[in-house]
Amino acid sequence: MSSIEHWINGKVVPGQSGRRADVFNPATGQVSGQVAMANTAEVAQAVAAAQAAFPAWADTPPIRRARVMFKFLELLNQHRDALAHMITAEHGKVFTDAQGEVTRGIDIVEFACGIPQLLKGDYTDQVSTGIDNWTLRQPLGVVAGITPFNFPVMVPMWMYPVAIAAGNCFILKPSPIDPSASIRMAELLKEAGLPDGVFNVVQGDKDAVDALLEHPDVKAVSFVGSTPIAQKIYETGAKHGKRVQALGGAKNHMVVMPDADLDQAVDALIGSAFGSAGERCMAISVGILVGDAADQIVPMLAKRTQELKVKNGVELDAEMGPIVSRVAQDRITGYIGHGETEGAKLVVDGRKFQGARAGAGCDNGFWIGGTLFDDVKPDMKIYKEEIFGPVLGCVRVKDLKEAVDLVNAHEFGNGVSLFTRDGNTAREFSRRVQVGMVGVNVPIPVPMAWHGFGGWKKSLFGDMHAYGEEGVRFYTKQKSIMQRWPESIGKGAEFVMPTAK
Ligand code: NAD
Repeated sequence: MSSIEHWINGKVVPGQSGRRADVFNPATGQVSGQVAMANTAEVAQAVAAAQAAFPAWADTPPIRRARVMFKFLELLNQHRDALAHMITAEHGKVFTDAQGEVTRGIDIVEFACGIPQLLKGDYTDQVSTGIDNWTLRQPLGVVAGITPFNFPVMVPMWMYPVAIAAGNCFILKPSPIDPSASIRMAELLKEAGLPDGVFNVVQGDKDAVDALLEHPDVKAVSFVGSTPIAQKIYETGAKHGKRVQALGGAKNHMVVMPDADLDQAVDALIGSAFGSAGERCMAISVGILVGDAADQIVPMLAKRTQELKVKNGVELDAEMGPIVSRVAQDRITGYIGHGETEGAKLVVDGRKFQGARAGAGCDNGFWIGGTLFDDVKPDMKIYKEEIFGPVLGCVRVKDLKEAVDLVNAHEFGNGVSLFTRDGNTAREFSRRVQVGMVGVNVPIPVPMAWHGFGGWKKSLFGDMHAYGEEGVRFYTKQKSIMQRWPESIGKGAEFVMPTAK
């Protein structure tokens, strides 16, 4: 049994609140550890450590901050598999997918290594005779990141490498469901030479989040999680005068045109609906099948869904692992029942999957097999709401316009994908669709580290996306400096609005 504590001022700090939560191995259903749950005083301790570290870190030249990132990058590459094992053990996703998660996080660290270039300001000589004007970006101070269970390494890395490299001090509040990796990342940052107090971890739940949102020394909050909490974080953070970016839930559609290569489209649907058991904010949960392609696609999907290798994620040939928790398993099971009651056609029922089939010791794990619905209608709960599990619903439509209208009417706008061979269809779709991240023949279009990640509509509250240049802007404030020297100053007070002379 492991015990997962806080990380404050460069060391492990045992939780004092008296509250702890169980951490499970979802494949077996066994409790593998306990995580501390921070109270307001513990959060205040972390903020104080970060605040104390801030002046020196903010004054450290960006190139020296970048060197810490380069060392951290080296350590991450050495410990990539150990981190991936931690993810599989607490989240359940298959090891190969966990390796991919760590790699996509490392991408952001690589991006943050370029911070001297990213922080370079701009300069105008002679905005008026003898006067120059330049802008620069300075760090905000103490900033916090609140992250979901589904990417315990990658999503924190959407935030802290950029925040820290830009000169801020960071407090991570990870999900209590899979908290171990947060402490390992803190240890590696310390080993990379990061000064104590620059990166801190407070474990916990709503109590810790509320304390962060209300603390006057926390200047900005990045949140990734479900939409109701994202909205609440955005509103509460703004009320307390903080800069907030709050990324929420999703219901991502893949539109398959009749001219698409159907084998490719089916591969893409299966991988993106059932990879990570559908517990990705960019998972495809709705297949929009246009025209007569549907009659061919649904049987192909059914066969592939039944053939999925649903196994303990530690097995290297596993394609899909367990659901993260018993609560999530119950929620997803409930949605499958709703779909049946609402009249969608249940083609493959993942509720029948028995844990024993997933491997030795998995009988009591949190298992659901791949689930496929056909004839899903837009007014059904299983279409409207985010299920966040291995459930793919197919909607049949007559043409591209009907497909785009459906996507645009949905309250979420995180990701969307189109499969077609027609360039003009792709162009029209990409321009008209009301979604933040679009894939053309790419099922999961998660933008690379230097492009920035963010959805539209109820998938993001705030106006800046995560990482990339928007990330740098989020974690810094712009200062404009205008300067002249006595030789250029004319005699006498000026009472009119200064203009260029
Ligand atoms: P969640 O909203 O339950 O939790 C996210 C974080 O908020 C966790 O750290 C949690 O401890 C905290 N939290 C939970 N309830 C809270 C409350 N009442 N007050 C304050 N804090 C609270 O989300 P989850 O189940 O961990 O993650 C899955 C969700 O995250 C899905 O909706 C998924 O779509 C979304 N997600 C979105 C993105 C994106 O980029 N848009 C990325 C990953 C996950």
